[in-house]
Amino acid sequence: MNLENDCLKFLLKIVSTKSLSGQEKAVSKIVADEMKSLNYDFVKTDKYGNVIGKIGNGKKKILYDAHIDTVGISDIKKWKTNPYKAAFKNGIIYGRGACDDKGCVAAMVYAGSLIKKHGLFNDFTLFVSASSREETGEPYWLDFIIKKLNFKPDCVVIGEPSDMKIIRGHKGRSEMKVTVFGKSVHASIPNEGDNAIYKATDYIKKIDNLNNKYKSKNLGKPVISVTQIETKNASTNTIPDNCSFYIDRRSIENETAKKISDEIKNICKKDSIINYQKFFKAWVLPQNHNLVNSSINAYKSSFKKQPIVTLWPFCTNGSFTMGEKNIPTIGFGPGSEKYAHIANEQIKFTDVLNAIKFYSVFPSLY
Ligand SMILES: [Zn+2]
Repeated sequence: MNLENDCLKFLLKIVSTKSLSGQEKAVSKIVADEMKSLNYDFVKTDKYGNVIGKIGNGKKKILYDAHIDTVGISDIKKWKTNPYKAAFKNGIIYGRGACDDKGCVAAMVYAGSLIKKHGLFNDFTLFVSASSREETGEPYWLDFIIKKLNFKPDCVVIGEPSDMKIIRGHKGRSEMKVTVFGKSVHASIPNEGDNAIYKATDYIKKIDNLNNKYKSKNLGKPVISVTQIETKNASTNTIPDNCSFYIDRRSIENETAKKISDEIKNICKKDSIINYQKFFKAWVLPQNHNLVNSSINAYKSSFKKQPIVTLWPFCTNGSFTMGEKNIPTIGFGPGSEKYAHIANEQIKFTDVLNAIKFYSVFPSLY
């Protein structure tokens, strides 16, 4: 086995396999087959395309997770290569999902194979999960792992692009839909109606002002944005009696769903309803947490230098593992988050190989 070549081949293959959220079946099969051919002790797949492979039988249970789904393409003209066919040029892999998150999937799958090959698993069991529907935030994978396999990991490593930094927490994320009601009339007599769009724009301005309200020690400022707006109207010459807008809110430590929706309720006082679409908690591990220390040791042992320990501004499956289930979690991954979700998404292959080093030494140092 030539690890470098095999891993590259595998990564190019999964990047070349389109896997939008909810359509992961094909890539899920490739990942499961790869784990099997790399002699994982067992490999299981569920109906959503989540894959989990196991290595070892030791007491400590460690879960690695990276996701196999990707976002779509907004403007194909901005791409220099076919986003759904991986290109490898000058050590860089291009294609949708190369960085977010298939480079991490490949690194974790191959770290598992290295651990297996060298029999490094005396005192731990490693589970490598390639999860589906991360981008849409549906937590089926965790149900699959914790409920169906009946195990709770002692710690979790989330593989998402971190530029090889150690991540000890991240912001949470919520989505709300606000619907504002007014009164419809013919557009020739607007004063007799109540224009729901005008009311909504007034609320939206006030919502934007929430951005500078406060700041926390670790995660900084929460951010709030209105990301989409719509109205259902009989015609364009009618004053609309409804207007809905969507809010994306990035939360900081200790913020609850209630606190966040109360802020919006205070602004959209009457004639509106607020619906939560999603809520994922922020989380932060203390700097001196034993998992942070083990990760620093794994980094130092892999690269002979001190790592940067920081926080992610975005949200990952860590919201379920640490935010909901309180399982100590860190993030670490090859690739830079600035290439995620954009045209010409890319990852350096040397980063992927370096991540394999970290992932393969971490379990024995935890
Ligand atoms: Zn991701």
